[in-house]
Amino acid sequence: MLPFARVAIIGMGLIGSSLARAVREAMPTVKLTVSDASPAVRERVAELGIADDVADGAGAAVVDADLVILAVPVGAMADVAAEIAPELAPDTVVSDVGSVKESVARVLGAALPGVHVIPAHPVAGTEKSGPDAGFAHLFKGRWCIITPPPRADATMVERLSEFWRRLGSKVDLMDAPHHDRVLAVTSHLPHLIAYSIVGTASDLEEVTKSEVIKYSAGGFRDFTRIAASDPVMWRDVFLNNREAVLELLGRFTEDLVALQRAIRWGDGDTLESLFTRTRAIRRSIIDEGQDTEKADFGRGNGN
Ligand code: NAP
Repeated sequence: MLPFARVAIIGMGLIGSSLARAVREAMPTVKLTVSDASPAVRERVAELGIADDVADGAGAAVVDADLVILAVPVGAMADVAAEIAPELAPDTVVSDVGSVKESVARVLGAALPGVHVIPAHPVAGTEKSGPDAGFAHLFKGRWCIITPPPRADATMVERLSEFWRRLGSKVDLMDAPHHDRVLAVTSHLPHLIAYSIVGTASDLEEVTKSEVIKYSAGGFRDFTRIAASDPVMWRDVFLNNREAVLELLGRFTEDLVALQRAIRWGDGDTLESLFTRTRAIRRSIIDEGQDTEKADFGRGNGN
């Protein structure tokens, strides 16, 4: 039996449209209704034919749904929650895909009493945005972290877990603050560093822009992929995971200064021992199937 029969997705960018495509492929009998704030996006989604219905507003999209997934930027969750609140049936599960979980859980919990709010975060994505960037296999083999609030209904948590497993994801349960600390390390800080390095390189006066681009294969290119990620989405991530990111940034800055000192004093042993340790981390990511050996800096398969 399907975990949910009538699914609504609000926000049809990269993640929402990938979800729609994945649901179509994995659970073709699910009735899928979607919506987006942008009329151009709604029109494009209708053309793509990746949902049964494209509603004009979020409220209209969720009527009758037994699962609603919010796939909008973290900063837009409160507005969407207020819009859908009057239309939800009592037993509906409302989830999301936001990259930050504690603030989203708080906002959705406050705005949506009487329904099952069970936030989630598929740890899968690309640097692209919009409905044309989505694809059905985005979630295959990737982790989806579900962060049930303390008194969440266990049956509903299991139904949501089964939904993500059917899309090919591996599911982990975690509390929201822990999720935010883990993701600060694995995703938020790396994005901040990439944004910062690319910004610094483009501001350098003694090295021309054309040289930066021409010789980018020296490492810079890999940072530019991450630094091309959606500006609104990432603005909201940093505004909503402020404490965990700031704490980690303090630690990172200290470690960077230690490396600065090692370089200044010609301490090759410190440098070599760190670089040996980091190479082993890369090896374990490949061994766990979370990346391949192959150099694919455009990430054609959307990793
Ligand atoms: P996206 O491609 O920019 O899509 C977001 C869509 O939501 C846009 O079409 C946007 O419309 C729409 N939207 C914004 N405010 C809305 C509102 N109030 N009501 C209805 N629709 C609204 O972004 P995305 O990459 O799919 O990200 C969506 C969510 O997934 C974010 O919470 C993000 O943190 C999370 N996430 C992203 C990734 C990733 O790698 N990209 C991975 C995992 C999770 P407009 O264009 O008109 O603003």
